[in-house]
Order: sequence, then structure tokens, then C-alpha cells
Amino acid sequence: MTITVAIAGSTGSIGTQTLAVVAAEPDRYRVIALGASGRNVDALVAQARAVRPAIVAVADPSARAELEERLPPCDLRLGTDGLASIGAEADLCVNGVVGFAGLAVTLATLTAGRRLALANKESLIAAGPVVQRARRTPGAELLPVDSEHGAIHQCLRARDPDGPARVAQLVLTASGGPFRGRTRADLASVSVEDALAHPTWKMGPKITVDSSTLMNKGLEVIEAHELFGAPAGAHGVGIGFDAIDVVVHPQSIVHSMVTYSDGSTIAQLSEPDMRLPIGYAMAWPDRIATPFGAIDWSTLGRLDFEPPDHEAFPCLGLAYAAGRLGETAPAALNAANEVAVQAFLDGAIRWIDIPEVLSRVLDRHDGTRADSAEAVIAVDGWARQEARRLVEAAA
Ligand code: MG
Repeated sequence: MTITVAIAGSTGSIGTQTLAVVAAEPDRYRVIALGASGRNVDALVAQARAVRPAIVAVADPSARAELEERLPPCDLRLGTDGLASIGAEADLCVNGVVGFAGLAVTLATLTAGRRLALANKESLIAAGPVVQRARRTPGAELLPVDSEHGAIHQCLRARDPDGPARVAQLVLTASGGPFRGRTRADLASVSVEDALAHPTWKMGPKITVDSSTLMNKGLEVIEAHELFGAPAGAHGVGIGFDAIDVVVHPQSIVHSMVTYSDGSTIAQLSEPDMRLPIGYAMAWPDRIATPFGAIDWSTLGRLDFEPPDHEAFPCLGLAYAAGRLGETAPAALNAANEVAVQAFLDGAIRWIDIPEVLSRVLDRHDGTRADSAEAVIAVDGWARQEARRLVEAAA
């Protein structure tokens, strides 16, 4: 039986690679809904003509007239709610929306009791307690698309699912980004172009800058805690922040590891190719038949590992601090980061100002509890305002 798929963020990096997975597995998957921000109408129209989805949704309603004229016949939905609604329409929804805007898709998919293949880590990080409640909806499944968390998900299959977890440590690998090995002083004058030159992964600009500051890894530490931190037997393996470690691995071949109580470490290895973790999240507990990123051992060469430099990359420590505070602290950190990264990309602040902005917003955060999506959205709004104020002061 064909599995129906909705793709939120279809014109982005994750969305286009999801379409590539579906194209490789046409008997297994059928795309019935495409959702996008609406900023790239040409790409969305081309995708809709190729895939012929029943539903097309765009967050920005201003392109309505153009879309009505150019799209093949479909149910066109508009606005944030229209975009989120596609999560309830298919057997599984791949959420590749960029940033906090992905929260509505995450919640709509889980509360409809569908499978969420989650690339939008921000929704899980910022709204952890709210997403955890939605995750308890009968039928709801949350599978990580993030390559590190997909790797950990695979490594955790080495344990007896009905027995004790016996997990000692989750080890997230980080490429180290374009500035690996640089000192704090070296980093004072790096350009946007430098920050966007990622050595191993080709990704969108926001996550590429996050990768250069190690904020991406920091956010992934919080993401790992949300995904796997729950008591063993619920969703997780009962892991706290002390048991989540980061190691720099410049080749991006080992995507993450789990160390068990007897000293064994299980790792997942492949070439850096997002189609693999996307296909894994879509097919689990089965696997797709098409290989993406399989290693050629005759040319692989060496694998290196080194500890992260917390002094040159303070964002990593800030993320651990926000994660340990919990509740809405990660939402504040994430929102401030989205503003600071955009300001850096716009040339308004320097790269080294990014952690300064985050640290000040986190200091001023009042510890509001994450009781509801509204509470999280309010803290997100507050932190954006604070970050914009700091950006203007720094500019
Ligand atoms: Mg990742």
C-alpha cells in the first residue's frame, strides 16, 4: 500500500531532498500535499506540476492570485493555519520549515495522530513540554530527520527494547564548521561568506551560520534531550544533560554514537547525505531500498575526533545552560538566535556578537513555564524584541 506524504517547507533544502527520496521510491510513497512559505513561487509551482498534489499550502497569502493562476488544479490553503493543516492530511508529514515557524506544523501533525518526520528542530527545542504532550496523542510518532538524532535513533536499536536502557552516554558529532581550529581572536573579523562556506554539509543559510557558531550543535543537545531524555520505557532512555556529549569530527562520517553501560559504543556511519536520515524517518521500522550516502571503504581514509573549543564557540555552553534551565529558556535562546543570525546575515552585527546577544537575552529571561503553546509564543516574541534591541545597540 502506498504511504501518503505531506511536505512542509517543500521548496527548501529538506523539502527538495524529501522529493528526491519519494522519486526514488515511487511504489512506496506518494506526495499528496506540498506546503511552503510562499516566498519562492516559481519553485513551488514547478514542484506542484511535477508531483500533482491534492493540496498546496502557503504561509504567506499575498501570492494567492499568482498561485491560483499558475498551479495545477488543487486545494489551495493559505496562512499559517493553512500550512499547518497539511500535517493532518497524510500518513506522514516531513516538517522542513525553517525556524520557530515550524511549530504549528509539528503540533498539527502530532495532535492528528500522524507520523512526524521532524527536520524543524526549533519547534521541539523551543516548545519541548508542549510538543511532548502532543506526542502522547494515540498514533502520533516523532521520528528525527536531523542526521545526528537519526543516527542515535539507529544506535539505540542495539538495545533490548523491553529491557533496561543501559545507556551511559549519547555522543553527538559536530563537523566543527568552517571555523574549526580558529581562536577567539581569529574569529573577530570573519565575514558572512566565510560563515556560509561549510566544509561538509550543503544546507540552508540559517543552519549553516548556526553550524559555524556551534549553536546548531547546542540546539541539537537540547533536541537530543527532548527526544531521548524521557524515562526509559516512555519515549526515551532516561538521559540527562550530563550524559549528552559533543565531539568534533571534521569528516562528518560518524553521525553520532551511543555508549552503553558495558563500555560498548555503537555508531552510525555514512557519507553526509540528508536523503538517508529523511528516508530512515519515513520508513522506520522498515528501511527504504535505495542507498543514499553508502561509504566506499576503499577511499574513506581517516576519521578524526577532538573536543569542542568552548572558549572560541561560547554558543555551545549557552545551549547547555538553557537546556538545563528548561521550560521556556530554550525558546528564548532559540528566538534570540534566529534574530542574531539574521542580523549577522544582513551585515548588521559581527559574528562574535551573536553569542553576546544570546547570553544577554538568556540572562534577562524570567523563567516563565512552558505550560502552553501560547506561553512559548509569548516568550519567543519577548526574546525577539530583546534581541532586536541588542542588535540595534550593537550596530
Ligand atoms: Mg544535525
